[in-house]
Amino acid sequence: MRASSLVKLSYWGLRALLFRRDSPLVGSVILTDRCNLSCRHCTVNNITSVIYPYAQIRKDMQALYSDGVRVIFFYGGEPFLWHDGAMSLQDLVKEARKMGFLFVNIVTNGTFSLTLPEADLILVSLDGPQAIHDRIRGDSFDTVLANISKSGSRNICVYMSINQINKNDIESTCEIVAALPTVRAISFNFHTPYAGVEDLQLNRAEKQLCVNRIEDLMDQGYSILNLRSAFPYIVDNSFRTPCNQCVIIENGERWLCGRCVDVPGLCAQCGFFFPAELSLVFDFHIPVMIDMLRTYAKCLWE
Ligand code: SF4
Ligand code: SF4
Repeated sequence: MRASSLVKLSYWGLRALLFRRDSPLVGSVILTDRCNLSCRHCTVNNITSVIYPYAQIRKDMQALYSDGVRVIFFYGGEPFLWHDGAMSLQDLVKEARKMGFLFVNIVTNGTFSLTLPEADLILVSLDGPQAIHDRIRGDSFDTVLANISKSGSRNICVYMSINQINKNDIESTCEIVAALPTVRAISFNFHTPYAGVEDLQLNRAEKQLCVNRIEDLMDQGYSILNLRSAFPYIVDNSFRTPCNQCVIIENGERWLCGRCVDVPGLCAQCGFFFPAELSLVFDFHIPVMIDMLRTYAKCLWE
């Protein structure tokens, strides 16, 4: 990220913090639930397999922008499967920029070409070294690594969801990622126990051990896009939920924080780090605010 963009984003974030504390600022647009993978932990893929048309996606983007959202994520299913005639995900990213979004991002399984320099950040799932990743996500590790290596821009952040299968592979995944020059950082989440995949959830003691190990990796200098100061709240699930600053939109329908917001009891077991971090920032936890500025500048700045 260029210094000028980081300054613009920080200025906007600061104003939002002071004047718009309870409004959504970070928006996710679901493009489709169609996906070429069938991950062990997934509960959302290929339920309808509908790919929403450009006009609808544009309307969703416009609605978020009008409400003051300036950070946008494109999600699936697999977002690189999105198309409308000759239009592709790249056109959506360009349109988001034109509309005025300050930070435009994609969340992908990494099995398609990742050469998309117009995106600020491409979050690519990697759930461990080859045997573990493929056990969770099917035979895709080699393809994901090849696509990361071939992508021309340094706008990739690897994303690992820690669960019962890969909880011992945090260090080895960090080592793999550190050897990939196009990757800026790795970011972690804990598995959230959606119905049918509760068995993958970590208990509190296991989460604590994981964050201890992530802290060691931070001390060793690995580029990790998570906030150490938020770990105690994440382990205890003691952050405010849902996160009022996040919104998700699919085909005109909106949810505060995540589509999981309506599942009774799930927020109290949430494993997502980012809504936790953002809730803490907007609850004026000063150490988390300072940590966010420092960590994001370190991991995302050119
Ligand atoms: S890549 Fe994502 S959407 Fe597709 S099956 Fe895996 S978790 Fe689900
Ligand atoms: S479980 Fe609740 S807090 Fe976590 S992402 Fe879903 S809606 Fe947000």
